Amino acid sequence: MTEISQQENKKTKCIACKKPAIVNIMNPFCKECFIKHYERRVENLIKRHKLVRKGDKILVAVSGGKDSLSCANVLSKLREKFDFELGVLHIDVGIPECTNERTLNVVEGFCRERDITFHFYDLSGFLGGTTAEVAKVTRRPLCSLCGMLKRYVFNRFARENGYNKIATGHCADDVTRFFFKNWISRDFLWISKLKPITVSDHPKVVTRIRPLYEMLEAENLAYIQIQQIPIAGCSRCSYFLRRDKWFDILRLIDEHKKDFKFNFVKALEVAEISSKEKRDFGECANCGEPTDGDVCAVCRVKERYNRIKLSV
Ligand SMILES: [Zn+2]
Ligand SMILES: [Zn+2]
Repeated sequence: MTEISQQENKKTKCIACKKPAIVNIMNPFCKECFIKHYERRVENLIKRHKLVRKGDKILVAVSGGKDSLSCANVLSKLREKFDFELGVLHIDVGIPECTNERTLNVVEGFCRERDITFHFYDLSGFLGGTTAEVAKVTRRPLCSLCGMLKRYVFNRFARENGYNKIATGHCADDVTRFFFKNWISRDFLWISKLKPITVSDHPKVVTRIRPLYEMLEAENLAYIQIQQIPIAGCSRCSYFLRRDKWFDILRLIDEHKKDFKFNFVKALEVAEISSKEKRDFGECANCGEPTDGDVCAVCRVKERYNRIKLSV
């Protein structure tokens, strides 16, 4: 049986209700029990790490891909129970493969159906040129520039619009990959923050929560497919950011050691990692956003781009 099989396999039974199983990722489940089990695990993580408090205003970063939509969907179902407000922000980064009319329609439609406040932010031209042009001129990989811009805008937008938390769709696959990448480059400070919740350490930084911390990418996909939720993921980002050498390495480990990624994040959740390194956060001399330098990374790219453009 594949991870999600359209033809119910008569032999494998749902671990919970004994009906024929249709999904078998960590355990076999029928449709109904899979959804229940998935949502219960997210809810338990939220409770265990106190990700949400009564009266919170949470902004979910939604690209239109399966992970961010899974995150927004579970949170929308838990709104009443935990008594919080929910909003979605979709950013047009000005890269047509990432954001286009289709991604906008998918995300907007998703929010309308669930009565979630929808926000749209158009980033194209934010740096003085198209994102692709700026990446080329400043010789920065497009995906890293795109990620940097998105983080900058999400934080500022959330703060300026009264949201006290930002939720992202980062899942166990992402967390494991981030861990190894940063471990090798000895960024322990970053690793120490790689938890289900990263509490704000600066008045201008919004607290981040990762409700899907324990969920596998394959589970997010099954969760979306079973409920037939339309998605419009970015082919460019998922290819360049996900399918790197770490993707292959971790898949290999997973093949030899069952449920490796899941057990890895479960351990990371409780591990106490500290770093001697201290980064003092101040405010960017140019735009006022939080940064550990004099001028923030976004303003530096902007300056560099304009300098090169003027000298041409
Ligand atoms: Zn079942
Ligand atoms: Zn700045």
